[in-house]
Amino acid sequence: MKSPRFLRVIFLLLFGAAIAASGAIAFTSQEAAPLSDRIVHYKIDAKLDVKTKTIAGTETLTWRNATDVPASDLWFHLYLNAFKNTRSTFMKESGGSHRGFKPGDDQWGSIDITKIGIKDGADLTMGKEFVHPDDDNGDDQTVLRIPLPDPVPAGGSITLEIAFQSKLPQVFARSGYKGNFYMVGQWFPKIGVWENGAWNCHQYHASSEFYADFGVFEVDITVPAEYVVGATGRRAGERKNDDGTVTYTHVQEDVHDFAWTACPDFVEIRKHFTLDDPPVRTEMILLVHKAHLVLKDRYEQALRNGLEFYSKSYGAYPYATVTLVDPPFNALGAGGMEYPTLFTAMGSRFFPDGLKLPEMVTVHEFGHGYWYGIVGSNEFEEAWLDEGINSYSEIKAMERYYGAGRSMVDIGPVKIGDLAFARMNVMGTSRLDPIMTKSWEFFSGGSYGVNVYQKAALTLLTLEGYLGEEVMGRVMKTYYERWKFRHPRSEDFFAAAEEASGQDLDWFFDQFFKSPDKLDYAVSVVRSDEIREPMGLIGGAGAAAKAGTGEKEEEREGAKADTEGKAEKKAKTYDSEVVVIRNGELVFPQEILVVFEDGEEVRETWDGKDRWKRFKYTRPGKLKMARLDPEFKIPLDVNQTNNSRLAAPDKTPLRRHSMGILLAFQKLLSFVAF
Ligand SMILES: [Zn+2]
Repeated sequence: MKSPRFLRVIFLLLFGAAIAASGAIAFTSQEAAPLSDRIVHYKIDAKLDVKTKTIAGTETLTWRNATDVPASDLWFHLYLNAFKNTRSTFMKESGGSHRGFKPGDDQWGSIDITKIGIKDGADLTMGKEFVHPDDDNGDDQTVLRIPLPDPVPAGGSITLEIAFQSKLPQVFARSGYKGNFYMVGQWFPKIGVWENGAWNCHQYHASSEFYADFGVFEVDITVPAEYVVGATGRRAGERKNDDGTVTYTHVQEDVHDFAWTACPDFVEIRKHFTLDDPPVRTEMILLVHKAHLVLKDRYEQALRNGLEFYSKSYGAYPYATVTLVDPPFNALGAGGMEYPTLFTAMGSRFFPDGLKLPEMVTVHEFGHGYWYGIVGSNEFEEAWLDEGINSYSEIKAMERYYGAGRSMVDIGPVKIGDLAFARMNVMGTSRLDPIMTKSWEFFSGGSYGVNVYQKAALTLLTLEGYLGEEVMGRVMKTYYERWKFRHPRSEDFFAAAEEASGQDLDWFFDQFFKSPDKLDYAVSVVRSDEIREPMGLIGGAGAAAKAGTGEKEEEREGAKADTEGKAEKKAKTYDSEVVVIRNGELVFPQEILVVFEDGEEVRETWDGKDRWKRFKYTRPGKLKMARLDPEFKIPLDVNQTNNSRLAAPDKTPLRRHSMGILLAFQKLLSFVAF
């Protein structure tokens, strides 16, 4: 309702949110046994200067070489240098905007290591140099290399003392400030991942998120007293200082990143979440901007839904806290982002109840806590392991809690489900990249987004349609249980799926994750021909043939008369055929429902390998229609309008089918969003 412009804004918001929504979660475990291998231990002291928008930081980092290869240098991410100038790889790749948001003039951000040295040892400051492992951009300063006087041996550790200065940009991509709101993410010198004898430490790219080792974070955050602070982990201390500031201490084990936020306009709401099976006890901390308080119950319920869904579907939420951060509307570039035990939501007080964007973003970002946070995927190299699995989970959760077919928009007669939304995105895109592509090597940000989010999600839903929901549930639990607090690769997911399902699925993963091709099957022909006596010269001798068929000839005349409206003398018989075809390169087994006018139904199966397959019938009833994928188990089929066909033009239109509304919206949305 409202104007088309209003709808367009909503749809673009939804699209942007889905692309943007990238990950999120929380951690806080107590003194129990380590959940992860704790490669890193950070002690950071951060003082925010709200006048200069800078953070003065010191960092004591202990890093352990858990491999059997000595490390002769150390590499660090200096992510904030992505916002240092227009020459950074991030700014060049993004064309200066991110998820539709642009940086403010002269509001650049940066991070500078002013001193780095080995604890009680050598000063390493002079040896630091920027490296750019992913491209030839000598101006990019998002990865720093520190040569060591002596290598860190296999199994050995090193403790560094670092002083750094972080200048926050005005928010446009995840981190920064806007007015008195601060979202402080990717803000400190973060060591890369030493694996296979090399540093896995990529530059900050426009289409990429993050990767780091698990460990322990102890962080002191000092802000003016009137600021409300939220951060990764549990609050372990709070100290008033003489200069009118407050220092909050946050601690979290078994996480691989640490983020925090500060704003005097947050209203802090603390609620408990408990679950018996599996056992979960955690504190939900909602930092709702005072301008959005109308959304607080929606946020809380969505977070409860996420906690319940993910705990039951994959495994108990393991941390003591989860913090939802609701940025002001003018800082939405910070919204829809995940960090360990903390995520940013997205809301406006003008969002009607029927527009489920705050719910979707909350469920999505919380969910990242599992597929980015707990399962430590490499988002640079295999983003689908986070975004794709998380979007699959989000769709299932949204459709369960907010209603299938109306889980995104449910405003009067306008109903759109999260699944339909994902399908709309995949339908409208060109197919240039496989899902398994390094994040910065996709053809475009759009290709990255649609592949690692929606196409990967639909692919997993299609796999679920093939395996069945119960088996797929086992697949997901097996994968989560095996890879939580570790770093899986795509092949590890595939192996878990084959093991849990007991099936060889190479044919599926090789096609669907490693090729850019499309899946599209169609019903091409649905035809019935009445069986008539042969005409012409039959059997060689014309007279003999004629004598042998004389009686039936009369019947045929009668039948012909019937078609002109007279009484039928004898039941007719029809030769019928259904032809289904494969339009795309991807091969997937098909089910076909064939319906006859007399009500008979036949189920056919086809391995889908050839380009087409014909089914023939000789029956008294005429064909009515044929439908591929009658249970809608293949959401990745890009064109579902060709999945069914009537035998003849009929006044019982297909749009009466439940899919009809969905198809209409797909068409509408494909104009709006692309
Ligand atoms: Zn996401």
